[in-house]
Amino acid sequence: MDFFNKLGQKISEGGRVLSDTTDKLLEIADNKLEINRIESEINEIKMFIGELVFKNYLGNNVPPALIQEKCEELERLFQEIARIRGRLDQMRGVTYCRRCGGQVKGGEGFCQNCGYRVN
Ligand SMILES: [Zn+2]
Repeated sequence: MDFFNKLGQKISEGGRVLSDTTDKLLEIADNKLEINRIESEINEIKMFIGELVFKNYLGNNVPPALIQEKCEELERLFQEIARIRGRLDQMRGVTYCRRCGGQVKGGEGFCQNCGYRVN
């Protein structure tokens, strides 16, 4: 009886580990999708800013406040991407090399870019 109880416990623990991993992968995929969405928004805003600058060049007076506003929007979106990337790195256990800024993947202990030993 005890054996079956333990077996049941182990199976449910295994199930929990599996669903934790699945949740993590889903969260990583969600974050990547969010980054893609923000990146296409960034590209649209960049094109729009480009059009405004060109209109100015052609002699149409585009209010500088409008360009300023769009640039601030870009800055906010870049910050948002940096925040999501930071969260992704944390989930994957990625840190960055102190010598060159390259990626150091979790558990590897050395920089993939320059070979610097982190630990
Ligand atoms: Zn390095």
